[in-house]
Amino acid sequence: MDRKLPAPEANPETVAFWKAASAGRLTLRKCTSCARVNWYPRVICPFCFGDASEWVDATGHGTIYTFSVMHRAEVPYAIAYVTLEEGVSMMTNIVDCDLDAIRIGQKVKLVFKPSEGGAPLPMFTPV
Ligand SMILES: [Zn+2]
Repeated sequence: MDRKLPAPEANPETVAFWKAASAGRLTLRKCTSCARVNWYPRVICPFCFGDASEWVDATGHGTIYTFSVMHRAEVPYAIAYVTLEEGVSMMTNIVDCDLDAIRIGQKVKLVFKPSEGGAPLPMFTPV
């Protein structure tokens, strides 16, 4: 049984993010002043407070920083922080694997999972 995923809510700072997600791309904001990548998508750079940034495509590869398996949910699932190759950590789910075999430090790659009536959600699966 698949877990039902609610559609993400887009705001003006994330419309482009979800549009890219619908096309199968995970995008991040990269500051054009200090060149640092930040997550989640926002207009003002959290490092230098610059307001000029651009969208860049993530490689979709990362490492599990920490995770927790929700065994008591109707459909058990794993919630995790994944550190992307770009250096940012995002809260996500680990999917398409044995939940009891998930380990901190495991290499994962991006997969998109459909939501109910909205953009697909970026999640990760062990490589
Ligand atoms: Zn910056």
